[in-house]
This record gives sequence, structure tokens and C-alpha cells, in this order.
Amino acid sequence: MFDTVIHSGTVVTATDSFKGDIGIRDGRIAAIAETLPGGDRRIDAGGRLVLPGGIEAHAHIAQESSAGVMTADDYYSGSVSAAFGGNSSFIPFAGQHRGQSVDDVLATYDARAKRSVIDYSYHLIISDPTEKVLTDELPRAFERGITSFKVFMTYDLMNLGDGGMLDILTVAKEHGAITMVHAENNEMVKWMNRRLAAKGLTAPKYHAISRPELAEEEAINRAISLAKLVDAPLFIVHVSTAGGAALVQRAKLDGAKLFAETCPQYLALTRHDLDRPGMEGAKFMCSPPVRDEATQDALWRHIQAGTFESVSSDHAPYRFDETGKFTAGTDAPYPKIANGMPGIAARLPYLFSEGVMKGRITLQHFVALSSTNAAKTFGMTTKGSIAPGMDADIVIWNPEATRTVTLADQHDNIDYSPFEGMVLTGVPEVVLNRGQVIVEHGELRAAEGQGRFVARARVDLTGKPGYRAKELDPAQNFGAEIAP
Ligand SMILES: [Zn+2]
Repeated sequence: MFDTVIHSGTVVTATDSFKGDIGIRDGRIAAIAETLPGGDRRIDAGGRLVLPGGIEAHAHIAQESSAGVMTADDYYSGSVSAAFGGNSSFIPFAGQHRGQSVDDVLATYDARAKRSVIDYSYHLIISDPTEKVLTDELPRAFERGITSFKVFMTYDLMNLGDGGMLDILTVAKEHGAITMVHAENNEMVKWMNRRLAAKGLTAPKYHAISRPELAEEEAINRAISLAKLVDAPLFIVHVSTAGGAALVQRAKLDGAKLFAETCPQYLALTRHDLDRPGMEGAKFMCSPPVRDEATQDALWRHIQAGTFESVSSDHAPYRFDETGKFTAGTDAPYPKIANGMPGIAARLPYLFSEGVMKGRITLQHFVALSSTNAAKTFGMTTKGSIAPGMDADIVIWNPEATRTVTLADQHDNIDYSPFEGMVLTGVPEVVLNRGQVIVEHGELRAAEGQGRFVARARVDLTGKPGYRAKELDPAQNFGAEIAP
């Protein structure tokens, strides 16, 4: 009757926790009961937690940076690393560079993603919103279930400007898509870079100084205002500051159609990690940069208060060598060192250990932050929960095993881990994707390419009333019909 039965585990969803068996048939959850007989295969989950497989909503896989540096993980190594970290699916970025057609971008990523061992979709990065992109290509991407578009407010080669962002927000809104934004004030960062360069301060640690907290706060405030003007949904990625998080919280309270995430590195690291001997600090460079301990405390409180839907890795894997961090030389000034750090395998163990084991969040909240909310926000309607009819994307979790994080445990294509040496409690032991065991007690069981593209649904804005700008309301603007 069942292909697989997972028995005697403690099943945890974003709302519940109960002892029970899960029956899997044809890749989906067919039954949940106190006990289930049979199963071609029976997996004993006694003493273990049975959770929805992690959904990694922020990862850079087989993606060229705007400076042309290719990430070290492709869809095989990146998905394998994700799987070892307890994830059953992920949504990396498909990046449009200036001059590229969106159709070509998606064809390129479709070819790259064929190697994935877990299910996948893409967030489409838009850096060149031409008329053709806005009226023809984005609607076509949406038609095939790519329902999130990302834009940048920083980086000269990516930054759209406020007008370009309003255009994307408007198109996304019309199609039920969500716009994601990297919010940092480009001019503040460039001004800081010039000041630091003039003094010859170019070591990696100055990266942390070059992107001020105010640059994020200003840009988050502006992004929220732009989205309010056109009453469009917005997702703020990798919030790294207390001030930015407070703006998100306030806007949510005001009913904004707003979503946000933070990342383990902002909870685990500080700018002092960039101040290591030689060029070691380059390992800890990401944008926005890691901050300080007061920020870590504030971000945890915002997690507890519900400011963030998700904690995502922002896995941006560049090796600590000339293929990655140091394409401009091993003594390059910080603005020429590749930005980003790996962490796709460490996300769930870190969040479980520091969150659940330290009493900061409940088990249910852990499931919400690592899986359920990403599925809901980004329209993966058959994933992110354990219920009849859902995909059998499951991680069997040992809540008692304690491990020191090692590079070997990451199973990625990187030569360091920023989390190396941390002692974490909680280990993903068995991971299933649509009923197939893909990782089992440290062994990979997945076949290359067994992951499937997931067409995603439009964003659900229930409970988010939004904002009606007076100037776009015909009753208050002399009858002009200009609202998108
Ligand atoms: Zn990122």
C-alpha cells in the first residue's frame, strides 16, 4: 500500500508536534496515523524529529556575479550540499545581466539546473528592465511559474534606480509575482569606498565599514515607500541591521504587503571576523556585511517577534583562491574581492542549535523559518508541510547529536566554511525528496538530475491590506485612473 513508511517519529509542522507514522506513495504523503502497517521500506524514526524538508529560498548557484566571477557550486554540488544540510528543495537566482534577454537567461539556467538532486525553481534577477522585458519576457517567465523577481538598489552594474524599480514592482504586481530587493544605498557605499581608498584602507576588514548600517536602513525605507506607492508586494532579502528590521516590523504593522528574511551569518558573525591576519578576513566578506553583537541580539528578537518569514543562507560560494575571492589577485583591495560566503549546508543545523536548543524559538517556529514560510511566500504549494497530498519532502532529524562543524560536512565545492569549528546540536540524518531518500546517515543516495523544476503559484497576500496612495486614488486625484 505504501512505498515507504516512516514510523515512530515525532512529526513537527509549523503548527503542531505529534507522534505518528507517515505513509508515502508515488512521492507524496498518502497517510498520517498513529501507526501505519506495511511499506516496501520502513524507516525507523524512533527518538527522531520528522520535519518538512528545508527550503532554501536564497542561494547563488552556477551564477556569474556582475563582475563575471562564476560561483564555485553548480547545481550538482550546490544541491548535494543543500541536501546534506536537510533541504529538499531550493530557489537559487537566475541572473540577467545588462543586454541579456530573459528568455536566454532562463534557457541557460534550465540547462545548468538539470543536474540538481533536489527540486528547484528560480528567482529571476532583473538588471535591465527594457520595454520588451517588462511587457513580453517577464509575463512569459511568470506563465511558467517563476513568480519572484529580484532587483538591486546597489552595485553600478545591477542597480535599477528608483524608476526602474517602480516599473518592476508594477509588472510583478500585475502578474501576482513578488519583487525581492537587495536594499543598500549605492551612493553612500561609493562615497565610503572613496574615503577609505583615499586613506589607503583597503584590507578586507574595511569592507565591513564601507557599507554602513544607515545605507541599509535608508534603502529599506525607500524600497518600502516605492512598494507602497504602487501597492505591490515586496520581499527584503538578507536584512542585517536592527534599524532595517524595525522598519520592516513597523511597515508590517501598518499592513504593508511586505516579507523579509535574515541569514545565519548576521546572527553568528561580527565585523571582527573580518579582522583576521593576512587576507583571512576575505572569507567573511558579504554584502550587506556582518555587524556586531548588539545587532545579533536585535535580529534574534525580530525573529522571535515575527519580523522575518525565513532565515535563509544567502549561499554565495567563492573559493578562497584565484578562482573565487581573489580573481583580482591575492592582495586585492576589498572592493575587488568577491563578496559572499557559503552556508547552504549549515543553515538548518545552525538555526536549530542556536534557535531551538538555546530556547530562542520553538520547534514549530524553526520549521516555519526553515521551510513552511518559504513555501507559502514563494508559492511552492505542495511543499513545506507534512500533510496528506503534500510532496514527501522530509528530513529526519536527530535532536541530540552534537557535532563540530567541519568543511567535509558541508559537501560543497568550497575550501572553507565560515561556521567551521562551531559546536552545533542537531543533525539531519535522512533526507527525502518526493519520497526518494537522497541522503542517509552521511551517504549520498541521490542520482544526479533527479530534482524537478517546480512551477510556483502567485503570491498570497491574504491578511496584508496594503496601502492606497491618495494621489493614485481617483476619488482624491481629480478622477485620474493611474494606479497600476
Ligand atoms: Zn544573495
